[in-house]
Amino acid sequence: MKVLIVGAGIGGLGAALALEKKGINVEVFEAAPAIRAVGAGLWVAPNGLEILNRIQPALKQAVIQAGWELQASTVEDLHGHKLSGFNAQDLRCRYGSGPLAIRRSALHAILMAALKQTPLHTGKRFQAYDIRQGQVAVQFEDGSSATGDLLIGADGLRSRVRTQLWGEIPLRYSGQSCWRGLAPLRLPEPWHHKAQELWGDRPGLRAGFSQVNADEVYFYLTQSMPAGQHDSPEHLKPDLLRAFADFPERVLQIIQATPTEAFLRNDLSDFVPLKSYGQGPIWLLGDAAHATTPNLGQGANQALESAWALAESLAPTLTPRDLEQALQHYQSCRLARARFITETSWKIGQISNLKHGLRLRNWLMAHLPEQMVQRQLDQVFRLA
Ligand SMILES: Cc1cc2nc3c(=O)[nH]c(=O)nc-3n(C[C@H](O)[C@H](O)[C@H](O)COP(=O)(O)OP(=O)(O)OC[C@H]3O[C@@H](n4cnc5c(N)ncnc54)[C@H](O)[C@@H]3O)c2cc1C
Repeated sequence: MKVLIVGAGIGGLGAALALEKKGINVEVFEAAPAIRAVGAGLWVAPNGLEILNRIQPALKQAVIQAGWELQASTVEDLHGHKLSGFNAQDLRCRYGSGPLAIRRSALHAILMAALKQTPLHTGKRFQAYDIRQGQVAVQFEDGSSATGDLLIGADGLRSRVRTQLWGEIPLRYSGQSCWRGLAPLRLPEPWHHKAQELWGDRPGLRAGFSQVNADEVYFYLTQSMPAGQHDSPEHLKPDLLRAFADFPERVLQIIQATPTEAFLRNDLSDFVPLKSYGQGPIWLLGDAAHATTPNLGQGANQALESAWALAESLAPTLTPRDLEQALQHYQSCRLARARFITETSWKIGQISNLKHGLRLRNWLMAHLPEQMVQRQLDQVFRLA
């Protein structure tokens, strides 16, 4: 069996590695002229680390080595009140690993270096597929093509594979725009090994950050505003400094220390969870299948979970009938869990967008019963 993967993000690369491990013939096609990780940093959760471990224990070790150990993660208001959070020790006891922060480029480099025989082609922008006699032929914009038994669309939020499969699916804008980057800074204790998200006194105003290696801080800043706005380089930093003026000095330092051209801006969107990830020989994975807003820090972790579930469902030699069943199995492993993550993350974003009752909101968040908090952590971090 030959599997064609479109997209070499964390989902596509994770799937290629997991399929390679199963002895399945894979080829990866990426639109970008060179593999580059967009998005500064990432928090890898215990479930994502466990998937890396299942693919190859050495992968998990490499990510731990390249990443930055986080001893705790908290959400706080601007008055220093903790709204939610966890500590790594508890996570290690319950799920086998604590969370860590890593530069996206470091994670990509590790995943790519671990590929053994899988060809990875860059400059191959998927254009369309065609199914002929059970085989799928893929056309790329450069005029070239490839043929396989199964096409996996791992081409992200705006997946073209998904559009050809299911038609145009409207994106759901969260109401928040987000600026991300890496600041050349070393945070003092107690933030040196801590991830922190601060919720401001205005709707949607949040700042999240953690060290990502000894010399850089990964951060994101969100604000409620209409979609589709753009920054001008001369106003970007002054505008952000004004918006976050009530935040602690370390947030302002992060904004000041980051070169203007290093800010990356996205409107945060997902789409209503799909009822199906594919049909016939065309299937989706990662953000293409189950994009989520980043409020649980789970998008890439979920992409890895799907990569593993897909590979576990397949085998090198499958009859067309067995292949259909295997793909249904992949979908049944993932559909409900990914939907839970997408919808929970969406709700958190909407709670942070509330215009009224912010004090009550914060009080309720801080006083959730311990059992409920543990149940939610289990639902997010525990793998089947
Ligand atoms: C602000 C923010 C913070 C986040 N923080 C976290 C976090 O802390 N932890 C976490 O787990 N997740 C986080 N996420 C989510 C995470 O970034 C995504 O869920 C994850 O990158 C999805 O991986 P993917 O491989 O499915 O898609 P992508 O990373 O989007 O990769 C898709 C790939 O497909 C390629 N491609 C696109 N179109 C084509 C085409 N036509 N032909 C060929 N190739 C194509 C792209 O170039 C890209 O390389 C965050 C997201 C945002 C926006």
